[in-house]
Amino acid sequence: MKPTLVIGGGIVGLFTAYYLQKTGVEVAILDRTDLKDNCSTGNAGMITPSHIIPLAAPGMIRKGLMMVYQTEAVEKEEIELAHLAKKYQLEAEVLSAQEMQALEPNLKVKARGAVYFPGDAHLDPGVLYAYLKNYLQAKGVTFYADTQVNGFASSGGKISAVLTDQGTIEGSHFVLCGGAWTAELAKKLNFSLPLMGGKGYSFVQPNRPAIQIPTILTERKVAVSPYGDFVRFGGTLEVAGTNEQVNLNRVRGIFESIGQYYPDFQATFPEEDQIWKGLRPCSPDGLPYIGAAPGHQNVWVGAGHAMLGLTMAPATGRLLAELYHQKNTSLDIQGFEVGRYA
Ligand SMILES: Cc1cc2nc3c(=O)[nH]c(=O)nc-3n(C[C@H](O)[C@H](O)[C@H](O)COP(=O)(O)OP(=O)(O)OC[C@H]3O[C@@H](n4cnc5c(N)ncnc54)[C@H](O)[C@@H]3O)c2cc1C
Repeated sequence: MKPTLVIGGGIVGLFTAYYLQKTGVEVAILDRTDLKDNCSTGNAGMITPSHIIPLAAPGMIRKGLMMVYQTEAVEKEEIELAHLAKKYQLEAEVLSAQEMQALEPNLKVKARGAVYFPGDAHLDPGVLYAYLKNYLQAKGVTFYADTQVNGFASSGGKISAVLTDQGTIEGSHFVLCGGAWTAELAKKLNFSLPLMGGKGYSFVQPNRPAIQIPTILTERKVAVSPYGDFVRFGGTLEVAGTNEQVNLNRVRGIFESIGQYYPDFQATFPEEDQIWKGLRPCSPDGLPYIGAAPGHQNVWVGAGHAMLGLTMAPATGRLLAELYHQKNTSLDIQGFEVGRYA
């Protein structure tokens, strides 16, 4: 029996392989990189605002998430969002400046207040990624690193193989999890899958004085993810196609916001080789593509998760495995149709 080929070893590809393998499918993952750095390894690590019930994952810490704000206008928006969250049975607390500061005892937070989501969690995405990769390898999933998929071959009306820079690799089924590059793969299979790379950056700093609570600096859209001795600052969304160059002005914007909200924090502008970048795969309507590829019997897609790929990867993998086995899906997937722009 030929394996099912998952194209793209980001977090969505890995969780898809996880659920397929778990349900008895022989799986191989192909990635054009060495599988050490992609959009899934240096993101802010937040399992966020309670869109999905957090699963227990290696290294996951549940300290909640604080959305801090400095302006009255944003305060109003965030409080409205908190009310909306509560309507969907999510925990959300509006904190005064004093209550917010009590959660962050080591350093001043310059903000007029915050909305706190106690049910949210965060983790170090690089740790989760490496753990999951090792786990899958131990379970017998094959990894083809440094293998770029450039095309497909078909036989008997079905896709039968991928054409790569390392030669042809045959498969029985195919799942496209290529992040921002999935549009290019779809084009080769004659359907349209609009996606745009939304470039973001992050860098880590020694955590001095120590920030405790994962936070979004709301006006600046910067995510602050503390991990004990170090803290990661990340953000910005630069419409980038698939261009991966670092724009230092964008990084400076993230850096400057640190002092604006944490005036006592000891930050140093990162060296260029310490700056991480990632392309969020963004669809026009902000929803992911999860399901069968139009015009193909044995091809599925899991892509386009934009800012929430880490949060939604486990659910996506599970849904794709359910579709693969022709089971009812455990969530309603209306709205995620792969062919909605085809
Ligand atoms: C600054 C920043 C902060 C973020 N913070 C959070 C957060 O706190 N919480 C959250 O849930 N999400 C967050 N995200 C979003 C999250 O990182 C992404 O949604 C997620 O990583 C996308 O995963 P993916 O597997 O779809 O894509 P990727 O991780 O990009 O993986 C796609 C893989 O496919 C491979 N590939 C593509 N084309 C081919 C081909 N032709 N042949 C072979 N291989 C191919 C690529 O090499 C890549 O490894 C953040 C993103 C950024 C940029």
